[in-house]
Amino acid sequence: MREAVFKNEVEVLLCLIPLQKNGACTEDCSFCAQSSKYPTPINAYPLVPKEEMIEGALKAVSIKANRYCIVTSGRRATKEEVYQIAEAVKEIKKNIPVKVCVSIGSVDEEDLKLLKEAGVERVNHNLETSERFFPNIVTTHPWRERYETIKKVQKAGLSTCCGGIFGIGETDEDIVDLALTYRELNVNSIPLNFLIPIPGTPLEKNSSMTPQRALKILALFKLFNPYAEIRRCGGREINLREYHEVAMEIANCLMAGGYLTRAGRPPGKDEEMIKKLGRKLITKRGEFSKNKVEV
Ligand code: SF4
Repeated sequence: MREAVFKNEVEVLLCLIPLQKNGACTEDCSFCAQSSKYPTPINAYPLVPKEEMIEGALKAVSIKANRYCIVTSGRRATKEEVYQIAEAVKEIKKNIPVKVCVSIGSVDEEDLKLLKEAGVERVNHNLETSERFFPNIVTTHPWRERYETIKKVQKAGLSTCCGGIFGIGETDEDIVDLALTYRELNVNSIPLNFLIPIPGTPLEKNSSMTPQRALKILALFKLFNPYAEIRRCGGREINLREYHEVAMEIANCLMAGGYLTRAGRPPGKDEEMIKKLGRKLITKRGEFSKNKVEV
């Protein structure tokens, strides 16, 4: 499927997603260190100043990432926070050659207009799991709210990045349903996370993921969503273990330099792996081009 769909199979894309506001979240997502409902070991801080957001973009360029995502904790950002983020994005777009994404929770039409005009190109909003299983993981807001947010992002003409997290007690059916939902929504990027159990959260003892299952999940999302950028994100190396390299055959986009509240692989190690596999880091490309393939 990959060879049929992508022109250049050796390309690899990296993204960097430093947390620009951490913790103190009112929501109760069972896997998340940032929820104020759980006694998790994090250092909470409010939205960082513009200069720090700009610094993040420079760091993204320095590790050869083609995308930089401004991420904040919480169900939604305040209007003031959206304004501050938009101001930082304007500066970034003037001077730094990187695509800018945001992941700031629920957004409305007004937020999207402001962010798009500032230069944001893509919005991340994860459904996380199937609609059926979602209430087992989150009780403070409904799955539909997330789904409707994705629709709003598409309506605003922005690119969509929508992913999931696995190893949280979901069934095979939940995984298939999520992959089918993204196929129906035709999202542009699908970041796939594998649980890193966080002490203090309800899922602190979950460790059901095997490397084989993680690999199958990546393959399933690729087969159902051949035109999307399948992005390996949180928990990739500790869950895929011996399959971490071979997984590059399926998912050639990587979240680099850490996963929000958890450290990831040093970017140099990913670069080494990419070179060893004869692949090439692409810093400028946007969406993958689409060939005419029946899928
Ligand atoms: S995933 Fe987002 S909404 Fe849920 S607890 Fe974490 S920061 Fe809050």
